[in-house]
Amino acid sequence: MLFSSIHLLNTVRIVLKKIHRERFLESRLVDVEKEFYFSQKIKTMIPAKAYAAYQPDQPLKPFEFNRRAVGPHDIQIEIKYCGVCHSDLHRARGEWKGTDYPLVPGHEIVGIVLSVGSHVSKFKKGDLAAVGVIVDSCRECANCRQEMENYCVEGPTGTYNVKERDGSGITRGGYSSQIVTDQRFVYHFSDKLDMKAVAPLLCAGITTYSPLKYAGVKKGMKVGVAGLGGLGHMGVKFAVAFGAEVTLISHTPSKEQDAKRLGAHHFLLSSDTDQMKKHESYFDIILNAISAQHDYKKYLDLLALNGKMLLVGLPPENPKVDPFALIKNRRTIMGSMIGGTTETQEMLDFCAEHNIVSDIELIPIQKIDEAYDRMVKGDVRYRFVIDMSTL
Ligand code: ZN
Ligand code: ZN
Repeated sequence: MLFSSIHLLNTVRIVLKKIHRERFLESRLVDVEKEFYFSQKIKTMIPAKAYAAYQPDQPLKPFEFNRRAVGPHDIQIEIKYCGVCHSDLHRARGEWKGTDYPLVPGHEIVGIVLSVGSHVSKFKKGDLAAVGVIVDSCRECANCRQEMENYCVEGPTGTYNVKERDGSGITRGGYSSQIVTDQRFVYHFSDKLDMKAVAPLLCAGITTYSPLKYAGVKKGMKVGVAGLGGLGHMGVKFAVAFGAEVTLISHTPSKEQDAKRLGAHHFLLSSDTDQMKKHESYFDIILNAISAQHDYKKYLDLLALNGKMLLVGLPPENPKVDPFALIKNRRTIMGSMIGGTTETQEMLDFCAEHNIVSDIELIPIQKIDEAYDRMVKGDVRYRFVIDMSTL
């Protein structure tokens, strides 16, 4: 009896030792694997050249950093051109709170695929590829499930100055030689379009396409586009392509010629009170792309029954809204922020079909600060694009 008990105990001890050892080995193996994985990851990180803002009041300067290794769902893109958006300037010059310096701006990115991860089916090496304002999202919330990742409840991951979702660092934008992005946030565009003029479609394009589409702009509708800049000029092009009767509303008389050239049917000078009075209750839709401080009432008064003012411009201070201007004609003010992944691809396909690109001025990267200064003065028709071969 005693002997058999001792024997049993010994057996248990041996088994326990074995389990323990296996567990130890297993955990050690996981550690080794992890170490190997991270060392490989670091080894395969991609060196990138860029231009960065180091301080709010200093010009942008050359900067070098590493892009993450190409993961299974990633696409590595050689950036050919990057559009210059007003947000770049606000961020670089610290006009919006929370800039993480050094900052590599740029979210209107076009280029060519250099390599793809093992699970990538959408792209292959040598394809044209574009990246816009967002590079990730939670992918699980109700909005992400509808591919409206721009409205992700956790907040979408911006292409620059935002923490990567895996905690690996801060996102860096398109003023750089390369980018590595998850395939969900990479888009195709037609080689029939002028590549450098495609770049601004990724922010200015989708920002105006999305609300006009959502508002159901079509033939027979009267659409006013207020403000002719990077956003406004794309708004005119899309509203015309959707078949609407389009009026550009601007306080600058010299923009009339440009408005017509862009396809607008009419021009309304906002400083001309008689003309403005004549257009009261006239428009079905007004795309408001004015980013300077202005009176919303002036534009709301122009809306007909059930008219909508689509806000895409961001004035520096909160504008006042006159409730009387809203209740008359059952008017709506609707905001809109960029677009989701499906919609962005749809917009790029629409542009290929209708031969729509942005009006641009190409600059070398060394002239970026001069471009920012000119943007502040409104001296650009209508988007600067950086030729990244000058980096
Ligand atoms: Zn932008
Ligand atoms: Zn989400």
